[in-house]
Amino acid sequence: MMKYAQTLVKLTAAVLFAQGSKGHVMRGKLVNDIHNHGHDDDHNHKHNHGHGHSHTHIHAEDDPPTLNSKFDPNEKFTILGKEWKNNQEFIDSGARCGTHHSIEEQNLMDESLKIYRAKVKPSIAQTGSVTIDTYVHIITSRSGEGDITDQMVEDQITVMNDAFGGLPKQFGDSCGNSVPQSGAQTDFSFQLIKTTRTENEAWFNAGPGSSAERQMKEGLREGDCSTLNMYFNGGGGLLGWATFPNGCESDTAMDGVVNVYSSVPGSDSSPYDAGDTATHEVGHWLGLYHTFQGFLCIDGDGLDETPAERSSASGCPEGRNTCRRKDGDDPIYNFMDYSYDCCMSEFAEGQDTRMKDFWTMYRGLDSKQILESLGESGPSIEMQ
Ligand SMILES: [Zn+2]
Repeated sequence: MMKYAQTLVKLTAAVLFAQGSKGHVMRGKLVNDIHNHGHDDDHNHKHNHGHGHSHTHIHAEDDPPTLNSKFDPNEKFTILGKEWKNNQEFIDSGARCGTHHSIEEQNLMDESLKIYRAKVKPSIAQTGSVTIDTYVHIITSRSGEGDITDQMVEDQITVMNDAFGGLPKQFGDSCGNSVPQSGAQTDFSFQLIKTTRTENEAWFNAGPGSSAERQMKEGLREGDCSTLNMYFNGGGGLLGWATFPNGCESDTAMDGVVNVYSSVPGSDSSPYDAGDTATHEVGHWLGLYHTFQGFLCIDGDGLDETPAERSSASGCPEGRNTCRRKDGDDPIYNFMDYSYDCCMSEFAEGQDTRMKDFWTMYRGLDSKQILESLGESGPSIEMQ
């Protein structure tokens, strides 16, 4: 225990040092709040939408009455070079998001978070906001497919900053009358440091787990675990996928987010062209699970603010409630569900807390010492 205590002393000193930099934005590091950007009461959060009035129950496969006809989930549509019968077929194919991990890995991550919250967190101050250094890597095919513009990249970063900043959407059409304008203001924002462009047919077609993915990332990745690397390629048959924070230390080269290039704002691949694929995948990168994690109404994401959900939503099924015995309609407006871009508009406060904890544990200034201290009393944190 002696070593553990010493680690905490070192940690506290490091955090105090970080707080001494008040007034500066230390990119990618936890800093003191200088923009009134925390949990102030006067911020216009929207927590009670959809729960304060009664909804008629609508099954996911039904046509939601308020949905803009442009976004009819029962219509066929083309995305990822393929025509889908309807949105449900696309969701069922698994192409919506390729971020998965095993129950064992999930248990390790949850257990580490529990230990961190009980033993480490109380001793370190956590009031700061985080600006994340962000590198965007654009991969194009031999024929030039995937060549998104610098403006699109800038707009993509804006979409993420709006989403994580609790601000209304600026891109894409609205699709439902009940979609809330915005959600919780999180402590995260993103600063574009550099955009790279590479023509590589194999990397353009790389999917999750492929050797081309590893080659691409080893060739292009910048920074450390506090640095966000986003790759835009052909998507490998998916809208996107991400690595979780606990895998970064052991395999930093693979850490990052991959999105299909056509998911950026302004690329006209409705209903997933408002940039929220990146928002969703970066949510995973910061440690968030799907709102329907675990399925079976077990509330697998562990957050009361996102009611239990038996399965992923598709389209924008307002009033959907797949867990009638549990409180609350399904969190279809949450960025971590599978709804359309136009339907996803919020993070919850609890998700911010979770992201912040995972940031401090795995990506922040003191993560190495924290991981050491967790290693003494907790499970090993290894992930492929
Ligand atoms: Zn996902």
